[in-house]
Amino acid sequence: MRAEPEKIRNYIGGELVEPISGNYLDNIEPATGRRYSLVPDSDTRDVEAAVAAAEKAFPCWAHTPVAERSRILLRLAELIDRDLEKFARAESIDTGKPLTLARSLDIPRASSNFRFFATAILHTEDQAHVMDGVAFNYTLRQPRGLVGLISPWNLPLYLLSWKIAPAIAVGNTAIAKPSELTPMTAFLLCEICREAGLPDGVLNIVHGTGPKVGASITAHRKIGTVSFTGGTVTGRKVAEAGAPLFKQVSLELGGKNPNIIFGDADLEAAIAGSLRSSFANQGQVCLCGSRIFVERPAYKTFVERFVERTMQLRVGDPLEEGTDQGAIVSRMQLDKVKFYVDLAREEGGEIVAGGASPAAPNERCEGGYFFSPTVITGLPASCRVNREEIFGPVVTVTPFDDEEQVLADANDTDYGLASSVWTQDLKRAHRVAEGIHTGTVWVNCWLVRDLRVPFGGMKQSGVGREGGNEALHFFTEPKNICIAR
Ligand code: NAP
Repeated sequence: MRAEPEKIRNYIGGELVEPISGNYLDNIEPATGRRYSLVPDSDTRDVEAAVAAAEKAFPCWAHTPVAERSRILLRLAELIDRDLEKFARAESIDTGKPLTLARSLDIPRASSNFRFFATAILHTEDQAHVMDGVAFNYTLRQPRGLVGLISPWNLPLYLLSWKIAPAIAVGNTAIAKPSELTPMTAFLLCEICREAGLPDGVLNIVHGTGPKVGASITAHRKIGTVSFTGGTVTGRKVAEAGAPLFKQVSLELGGKNPNIIFGDADLEAAIAGSLRSSFANQGQVCLCGSRIFVERPAYKTFVERFVERTMQLRVGDPLEEGTDQGAIVSRMQLDKVKFYVDLAREEGGEIVAGGASPAAPNERCEGGYFFSPTVITGLPASCRVNREEIFGPVVTVTPFDDEEQVLADANDTDYGLASSVWTQDLKRAHRVAEGIHTGTVWVNCWLVRDLRVPFGGMKQSGVGREGGNEALHFFTEPKNICIAR
């Protein structure tokens, strides 16, 4: 007899509660295509309950000494570390990503987020300005109040904790909505919030769909601050909902990131780096470099060796240790990937690796959403496949002849999230990095990140920056106090 699927519950006012409607949605395991848990199909009423709980908790939490808030956040980090394996397994089952990746990257980064902001709040500096003989000004930064935090499915705990940690560290109370596709790690987080002693109502998690729960959060008059990470189309809706209410909104959106390899690059390092930046998490990282440009003298060798290495990646059961590539997060996302690979063929591209779903890696994964890592050549930089975000294990490789041309092609997109440049010429590295219109430029590396740096995108990749002081400033309201002398 098959076991009953686990029922995920909302976390409101410190209690794990059923959605008011009593309705649930199926949570599908991408590697098998089968339901493995149930997600609350919450609505406005659940958001109202979360708002009431957050409102009640706010005055006390906002006045809790910084050292105490820091201690609780550090405890949360410790508990995530303690439960690393449990979190990693839940993340792998929910998202389809290899367990090894969840264990080595996503979950450790989630605990670092709590640790980082727990300690950052102990070291902030306030500003004071003395007006000669007239007055003394100082800037008081106060928590904003109730904040809404909305996150996507690709790095569920990492991205949600990247918002929760700074928001509550500075004294706000939060209403968070994880993606309905990947709710499990947020559910596990609720359990450790209680254990860590986080006061009831400081963090509330409401599960459900974007149109019901997400839209209720963005439209709520008492939630004056919204931090959103997700697609550009949804980001526009969030901005539209916030604008009439003059909400403080931060938007971290999609990308179509260029990865530029010059002829003088250390080719071995560039290939290894490009393999990661193309296919990490099946290409479902907003920072993945999905457009590779290679200087013509190195192009042929790069393509040969890159394709060879791509074909060696093992697509497998995410829960098996030797798996490099797991499953795509959902049937819908898999269909989107297939659509763009078909479009690449129509646009004249040549599929030189992958291009289709492989045979199921084992019996357990027979209904899973797998797609082989795919490399496409022969497409112009201006075609749809090179301009629209696919968000899957698909990259194009295009030759270029000079710096000016590659900069123009790299920038010829509505997005501006991140880019990589591979060269041994330091002057060129600086020059090209300055010329690329992206919020982050990696030189001879990828996904290396100091949590203190401002993180975010240009153009339609976002508005605002997260990370370090940017996050602490976003989640606090500066007030100027002027005292006459
Ligand atoms: P999405 O469809 O935009 O969803 C993001 C979140 O918004 C989900 O929780 C979603 O809920 C919710 N949502 C949907 N409609 C909403 C509405 N009308 N109002 C408020 N919330 C709503 O994005 P996704 O498919 O989950 O994630 C992939 C996208 O995220 C890609 O474009 C990727 O580039 C981007 N991303 C960006 C960054 C960055 O830092 N810039 C990082 C990671 C991912 P449901 O899922 O429950 O519908």
